[in-house]
Amino acid sequence: MDLLSLTAVELGTAIQQGQTTAREAMEAVLKQIDKTEEILHCYITIDRKKALEEAEGVQRKIEAGELSGPLAGVPAAVKDNLCTEGMLTTCASRMLGNFVPGYSAEAVLNLKRAGAVLVGKTNMDEFAMGSTTETSAFGPTRNPRDPERVPGGSSGGSAAAVAAGECFFALGSDTGGSIRQPAAYCGVVGIKPTYGTVSRYGLVAYGSSLDQVGSLGKTVEDCAVVLEAIATHDRKDSTSLAREDTDFSSALEENVTGMRIGIPRDYFGPGLNGEVKSAVLAAAKRLAAEGARVEEFDLGLTEYAVPAYYTIASAEASSNLERFDGVKYGYRAEGGGSLHEMYKKTRSQGFGPEVKRRIMLGSFVLSAGYYDAYYRKALRVKAMIRRAFDEAFARYDCILGPVTPDTAPRLGESLADPLKMYLGDIYTIAANLAGLPAISLPCGKNGAGLPIGLQLTGDCFQEKKLIRAAYTYEQAVKKGGQTGDEGI
Ligand code: GLN
Repeated sequence: MDLLSLTAVELGTAIQQGQTTAREAMEAVLKQIDKTEEILHCYITIDRKKALEEAEGVQRKIEAGELSGPLAGVPAAVKDNLCTEGMLTTCASRMLGNFVPGYSAEAVLNLKRAGAVLVGKTNMDEFAMGSTTETSAFGPTRNPRDPERVPGGSSGGSAAAVAAGECFFALGSDTGGSIRQPAAYCGVVGIKPTYGTVSRYGLVAYGSSLDQVGSLGKTVEDCAVVLEAIATHDRKDSTSLAREDTDFSSALEENVTGMRIGIPRDYFGPGLNGEVKSAVLAAAKRLAAEGARVEEFDLGLTEYAVPAYYTIASAEASSNLERFDGVKYGYRAEGGGSLHEMYKKTRSQGFGPEVKRRIMLGSFVLSAGYYDAYYRKALRVKAMIRRAFDEAFARYDCILGPVTPDTAPRLGESLADPLKMYLGDIYTIAANLAGLPAISLPCGKNGAGLPIGLQLTGDCFQEKKLIRAAYTYEQAVKKGGQTGDEGI
């Protein structure tokens, strides 16, 4: 059996049925890592010995009948901003280059409860700030579909690891698109749930009011099953929701009959690449052919989402990153001096240029005299964006659009022009500002063979509608092959 060709759920089933073992699965992944990791650099930390030992432990429990379920024995990767007890958690920053947490994030514990086995910690943009995984202090990850290109970010290591078979599924975090955008660039599926669905306990905070943990996988089914496993109410996170509808896998149905899907005209303007546009519209047609009622509408306020997001996210980041001062965590600069000098040196040396840019921007918009003009105004825009979505969801079950304006750029292209990089987040950040769930899934390739992503956004708590629509689309493509225009 070619284990790497299986999805996470298929592998979990094969393990349950005794056709393979957790150890064999982990060995297959480690072998693949030997082949591709040197070029791709999906991981910051891999602990082979621990991974194999844990796989054996899980296997024993499965055989003893103590552990069952679709993820038991399945090798998983976790983004390096989720704390893992006893295992390095760096946030791809020099600042946390030596940080070994004494506890695990709730999402990681939930994965373990489900029997998944950790391969290692994936590369990312430093403190999740970026869209390419190039701001990592440990060097970039490359896109498995074309190693000259970026995998997207900030969960680029997680998306690339899934695409390259260096794990069967991965966890990421999404503050402004960091799960959905790398999923789109790497040709895998990624879901960001409603804010509060997955505990943020143990997730190193970037923009606390926007951050959500979610899953990346080869299929919609894998993502739904993983999300179901990690979505639990957690008293340790005051924004964690007590939901009773997290049985996401129950939505894996091929049925969009009568589903109302809105396509925002604002998302298809001049900034959108032609091939991406045709692939996304072809996907809409496909869903219409499956019985959905698809129509165009004006969402509005789209051009304000990027400035509002970068104001709010940077403000929160500047506050959240205050704690990295050389005293409490991680790196401390050499050389004496006063306390203030030590802070200054540590933070100057510990943070990379993108993080510093955000701290400066965030401190500025929060400072006396500018607070009302920038931060408070951004909060007002956020509320208006939320209302625009409320109006849209009064008429539609989900909103369909592109994930990104273009396919994956070449390495180096984005670093030179941060503003252009920020504008690339235009289609993903509104979901975070409004706390909405959204899924990204492949909808074909461009002429150069690069994956294109389709995004479906739903109202709060409506993940199941998204999963149903995404699953229906995925299965229709699988059965019918790509239509002419999807493959452009
Ligand atoms: N690219 C966005 C940013 O840099 C989103 C990052 C994220 O979702 N973590 O802020």
